Amino acid sequence: MGISGKLAEERRGRLAAERLLELKQEELFAANRKLGRHAQALSEEIVETRAEISTVRDENQRVKSDLTVAHQKIEIVERRLWHSIETIRDGFAVFDIDNQLVMANNAYLSIFDGLEEIQPGVPYARILQLLTEEGIVNIGAASPAEWRADMHERWQSDHPNSVVIQLWNDEYIQLIDRRGHGGDVVSLVLDITESVTYEKALKAAQESAESANRAKSAFLANMSHEIRTPMNGVVGMADLMANTVLDDEQRLYVDTIKTSGEALLVIINDVLDYSKIEADKMSLHPEPFDFEKSIHQILIMLQTSASEKRVDLLLDYQVSLTSTFIADPGRIRQVLTNLIGNALKFTLEGHVLVRVTGEEKSSGNCALQVVIEDTGIGIPDEKIAHIFGEFNQVDDKKNRRFEGTGLGLAISERLIKMMGGKIWVESEDGVGSKFEFNLELERVETPRDGLRDFCNKFDQIIIAEKSSVAASILEKQLSGMANKVTLCPDGSAALSAITDQTDLVLVGLDLPDKNGFDLVQAVGKKTKFPAFIMMNHSAAEVSKHADADLLSGVLQKPMSRQALYSALENLSKSKSPKCVPDAASSEQILAKSESNKMKILTAEDNKTNQLVFKKMVKSLNIDLVFAANGEEAVELYKTYKPDLIFMDISMPKMDGKDATRAIRALETLSQTRTPIVALTAHAMSGDEADILAAGLDKYLTKPLRKPAIFEQISHHAPKGVCLGI
Ligand code: ADP
Repeated sequence: MGISGKLAEERRGRLAAERLLELKQEELFAANRKLGRHAQALSEEIVETRAEISTVRDENQRVKSDLTVAHQKIEIVERRLWHSIETIRDGFAVFDIDNQLVMANNAYLSIFDGLEEIQPGVPYARILQLLTEEGIVNIGAASPAEWRADMHERWQSDHPNSVVIQLWNDEYIQLIDRRGHGGDVVSLVLDITESVTYEKALKAAQESAESANRAKSAFLANMSHEIRTPMNGVVGMADLMANTVLDDEQRLYVDTIKTSGEALLVIINDVLDYSKIEADKMSLHPEPFDFEKSIHQILIMLQTSASEKRVDLLLDYQVSLTSTFIADPGRIRQVLTNLIGNALKFTLEGHVLVRVTGEEKSSGNCALQVVIEDTGIGIPDEKIAHIFGEFNQVDDKKNRRFEGTGLGLAISERLIKMMGGKIWVESEDGVGSKFEFNLELERVETPRDGLRDFCNKFDQIIIAEKSSVAASILEKQLSGMANKVTLCPDGSAALSAITDQTDLVLVGLDLPDKNGFDLVQAVGKKTKFPAFIMMNHSAAEVSKHADADLLSGVLQKPMSRQALYSALENLSKSKSPKCVPDAASSEQILAKSESNKMKILTAEDNKTNQLVFKKMVKSLNIDLVFAANGEEAVELYKTYKPDLIFMDISMPKMDGKDATRAIRALETLSQTRTPIVALTAHAMSGDEADILAAGLDKYLTKPLRKPAIFEQISHHAPKGVCLGI
């Protein structure tokens, strides 16, 4: 081949090489571009990763610093907690599930007085052992092993009881252990030395107060006996002397002795009752009693002082209400006497009204509401809240002139409370007061419940009475008994109201314009003569009047329903004028006669009291012998065979209770039973129960009261025996 061929070939070769080079260069560029892109992505990725790493690092840093803060806080809290635990006076310790001490404060450790063994890790059983071995606890009579066994058993329980432990130095600790969920036990040791010492002192003080109280009660019992016995002589003798011929001066002296003596007895009784209630020694003795009669008797008793002041005493006992209930009659009377007595004491004119209403319950009980209303001085608002407190007297100019102990209402309130009732008061200063109490009492059916069935039917009844309250009570009581009941406030009104139809006139002796007898005479001249029943505080004053024969009856004020109904009943039986005794007194029951005598034995060592007794019963046709002591009483019982024995309790040689026991023993042989009535100056609670338990039938307290003695005599008089006055 020629040069040109070779040149051509070389050229072709070069061209091919140039093309290849171009190709390779292109490939190289492409690869370069790809590489560039990769490098770009990679560097972006690196930047991103770097940012992430920095964030994580930041977070790490923050967490780390948070952790440091938290740690610091925990340290502070722990320090504070520990500081607090160390500060408290009480011991504090924690035990783990294996009963090993984890931690304890100094107060806890101080109990062990520096024993080195007591430190974290020591088992609870070992602690118990050290407590006994080192004599740290006073285990009393128990043996150390027993004590530890008890303590261990307690520790093991899920809820260990708290326990009080006495330490060697007479300090007291209380252990309170709580078991947690994980089995840990937190143990708290309270130092209760102060409260135990205080409790001990309190107990000692209480014991000494109780013994002082017992001494006070005994002193009061003795004092009551010692004061009552001579007072019996004073009041009894003054009573008897008052019935003899005296000049005015002597009568004044005697009356003063009597009233002062009686006032003193009231005070003694108040103080005694109050201390009995205070000492929880007051007990109630429920028995059937006539409620209406009790109120009426109290009103009669207060009538004399009411008449002196011209205050009307009124009883408004709900017409349909039964009157026999079961309660302690003595205590009910005491409350009523206090409330009615107060009402009268603080009322200078107007009336004192006792209103009783009741509602029968399905249980057979009766819910009674008793109101004692007066038109007296009233009680100022600021005093009323404290009126039932002890020694609370409204002290102002108005009532300084009234006497009293300031105990009556406090006693009444407590008695009513004891009986399950409630007492309260409403009052207006200067206008009057209204004391009210309610009681739920068991009722007893009695024949008296049908009282009104005996009564007549009248055409017209005229009530001539100046007190409108009294007249409206009467009107209520007569409702249904007459076709017409007309109320007239004075004599003239009555005179014009009386017609031929009038068959009964209830007239007060004391009318504003004329006296009751003037009306009777005036009617006699005018028309057909109706029946007249005269009402007055003193029945004797009416009966003494020359025209008393014109009357068909006399009613003594304050009147009871029973007296009214009996008077009406008597109208039908007799046309002749008749005097109706109100709630016949025992003295009236004792009829005059000359038959065989009732034999009474009175055992009484005190000569004055013998004399008082003798004088009191001197008007009776009885045979009376005295025994000077219990022994004599038993002897006389055998020989004299009395119908009734009055027995003093405190007597020399043999007391009244032993004498009664001896008599009762003798009676079991003879199969008889002589009534024995205790006469005693003992007035403390429990005395009555004691006396009745000895076989006595009844209990009368001194000073002796004529009506009470007469009541017993007439009650026990054998049939056919007449007690002449
Ligand atoms: P006492 O009457 O013995 O002072 P009370 O406890 O019975 O004691 O009465 C306390 C006081 O309450 C009386 O002193 C009197 O001030 C007042 N008081 C009681 N009842 C009445 C009443 N009906 N009217 C006005 N004041 C009364």
